[in-house]
Amino acid sequence: MRPIRRGNAPRPNDYADYKDAKPDLVARLGPYCSFCERPVVTQLAVDHIQPKGLPAYAHLIGRWSNFLLACVNCNSTKKDKDVDPANALLPDRDNTFAAFQYLPDGTVEPSANATDNGLNAIADGTLRLTGLHKAALNTPDENGKQVALDRKSQRMEAWLAAEEAKRDLQNHPANHVLCDYIIKLAAKTGFFSVWMTVFADNPTMLSRLIDAFTGTSGSGCFAANGDVVSPAPNPDALPGGGKI
Ligand SMILES: [Zn+2]
Repeated sequence: MRPIRRGNAPRPNDYADYKDAKPDLVARLGPYCSFCERPVVTQLAVDHIQPKGLPAYAHLIGRWSNFLLACVNCNSTKKDKDVDPANALLPDRDNTFAAFQYLPDGTVEPSANATDNGLNAIADGTLRLTGLHKAALNTPDENGKQVALDRKSQRMEAWLAAEEAKRDLQNHPANHVLCDYIIKLAAKTGFFSVWMTVFADNPTMLSRLIDAFTGTSGSGCFAANGDVVSPAPNPDALPGGGKI
């Protein structure tokens, strides 16, 4: 899960209609779901970290600091589940890249780092909050070929694209045009953590990936060479942040 910095509120007051925050959020965070990392061109929703459907958080309905972006699957799974920032790992205040590991088959699970920090249960709960632990769906097209509609299948597809790009780069290490192309492909394909995992041994590519995904570097969760900085510095001092 890509750590991000939302930054200062673009307006002095809360949004009268929270949906108006969407362009501001996309400008700060890029057009990606804040939870599953898929790129979303349409139907990207303003997510209320603490759900607007619970009376306790009704006053946060237009509050910038309570917003993330969510795809239709993450948003509908999260729905009105109560979120206590002290008991969830959130991309705007924790190093959520350090907290999870991504596998070639599309699985995302709590990382060894999370477990070592006693955060396994919280990390697992965070995956369940938006359904990121769910298995792939069996969705064949009319010719019987699998279609990657669900988040796990899409992570697997992103992994294959990243592996292919890595092989191409290994064959043409000095090709800057190829390098630029791979970065553009990653930004278009989404799934930041998958690309970061596949290119883990290439600091130049890590640093370029971090820059290509809007809102990532501001989190302070990565050094200039791509190394993970944990715990997150949580520059906006958001409640419960910096657990990892
Ligand atoms: Zn999502």
